[in-house]
Amino acid sequence: MIDSYPLPRTDAWKLIGVVGLALALLYVMAIDQGLLMSLAQGNVAFDQNFIHELVHDSRHLTALPCH
Ligand SMILES: [Zn+2]
Repeated sequence: MIDSYPLPRTDAWKLIGVVGLALALLYVMAIDQGLLMSLAQGNVAFDQNFIHELVHDSRHLTALPCH
């Protein structure tokens, strides 16, 4: 059954990787409110909101909800 998949197997994994990376970057740009940095910094990250401030203009440019 898997051999009838239209993409060659390596291309399918590349596609999965690219889509996964795109979703991860979308999360970082559009949704993260300090959770990622809190893995290293603890609760301070939610107050500093470093990644949000870093991508703030990108959120406004792409009309994503921000503040
Ligand atoms: Zn904003």
